Amino acid sequence: MKIETMTVHQIKSGIAHKEFTAEEVITSLFERIKTIEPKVDAYITLCKEDALLQARKIDEKVKTGKPLGKFAGVPIAIKDNICTDGVKTTCASKMLHDFIPPYDATVIKKLKEADAIIIGKTNMDEFAMGSSTENSAFKKTKNPWDLERVPGGSSGGSAAVVSAGIAPVSLGSDTGGSIRQPAAFCGVVGLKPTYGLVSRFGLIAFGSSLDQIGPFSKTVKDCALTLEVIQGNDPLDNTSVKHKIKEDYLSCLEDGVKGMKIGVPKEFFKAGLDKEIAASIKECIERLKLLGAIVEEISLPVTEEGLSAYYIISSAEASSNLARFDGIRYGYRPKEFDGIDDLMERSRSEAFGREVKRRIMLGTYALSSGYYDAYYSRAQKLKKKIKEQFKAAFEKYDIILSPVSPILPFKSGEKSHNPLEMYLADIYTVNINLAGLPALSLPCGFSKTGLPIGLQIIGSHYGEEKIFKAAYAIEQDLKLTDKIPEL
Ligand code: GLN
Repeated sequence: MKIETMTVHQIKSGIAHKEFTAEEVITSLFERIKTIEPKVDAYITLCKEDALLQARKIDEKVKTGKPLGKFAGVPIAIKDNICTDGVKTTCASKMLHDFIPPYDATVIKKLKEADAIIIGKTNMDEFAMGSSTENSAFKKTKNPWDLERVPGGSSGGSAAVVSAGIAPVSLGSDTGGSIRQPAAFCGVVGLKPTYGLVSRFGLIAFGSSLDQIGPFSKTVKDCALTLEVIQGNDPLDNTSVKHKIKEDYLSCLEDGVKGMKIGVPKEFFKAGLDKEIAASIKECIERLKLLGAIVEEISLPVTEEGLSAYYIISSAEASSNLARFDGIRYGYRPKEFDGIDDLMERSRSEAFGREVKRRIMLGTYALSSGYYDAYYSRAQKLKKKIKEQFKAAFEKYDIILSPVSPILPFKSGEKSHNPLEMYLADIYTVNINLAGLPALSLPCGFSKTGLPIGLQIIGSHYGEEKIFKAAYAIEQDLKLTDKIPEL
């Protein structure tokens, strides 16, 4: 069994047709993890025993002819900010280093109901703040295509496990690009769904008005299937979708892009964009035209301003969301302290890392009474403008194309002392979260030095179906799926 190249669909069908057992899948996956994980450092926790137990249950179902769930026997890795009942969930922070949730996030519940097998929890930037996975309190994950480079972030672990073939599929979270950017850096598919499509219950919040959980996979088809499993209304999340949604994304995948109207915003191709990335995206656009799509240049003038709005709003929400971690209600408690104030102070100063502290300070400042109008309320106005701008564009176009990141995967340590430079690289992803839109990152080529490049396909609200159709058409045309990193 060549577990590293197997897709979700291949695993699922092999188990259902008794070509191999779920137990064999888990065993060979953990064999590979044993040799590959020390090189990439992508997992924080592994759940081998539980996974084997679950696999045997699925095998029993297959044997006795019981009905199988949509994800029967499929191993999945989970970002460590998504709560898993009985399994440590740390947010890659000293603050939650020993936190064991007594419940499952809704996405985990849905995965289990679909007979998925949770294999482990993946590394990330602390509390999902960052773009390189270097802000983890525990380890630095490496990019499987070049171990000296970062895998992107904040869901760097979830992207790296799929890329390195030590999980066929995984979940991450995206507040300003944390699924799409690491997917692009690691050469895998990553989807940030429409805000509200996937329940946030059990996702440890960063910026609640922006956060969404979404899948990483090797193929568009696997991504679509995973979304089918995790999406849908959840009474436990009051921002979750209330109307009827599309339940089947697979049957229309092969419809193609003939006649599809695609907008390409010129603001996304300005100075600062790496030449090889620009060339690769342009090549994709030409291919789409050959496949029958109608591609036109459009303008989204409020693009650059999105970055400042994003960093104000996300930090403001983070400062409020992270107030609960004080050593009393939640989180790390120092051994010695002198009274309640000292306890809180020590808990927060000893257990939060530098980046998290920076965001809390930024957010608290932006929300403080004298500065509220100057920062937070201006950022909200910008957010509204960005939303309207996209809405107008989607009245004419089915999807919008852009790069995911202006830069190629960078070397570990290269940007960790310059937070502003790191923030600026989020320029193409943050506006999508501010507008609540869905967007997918699709591998679309490699640099001369062999580093992956990602194409961003943006859809209108609940427009995932069109995104998948376009992504599938490009994927079939480019045929990059079989290329995996040598490790
Ligand atoms: N890089 C962005 C940030 O640091 C996005 C993070 C995310 O999407 N969680 O805020």
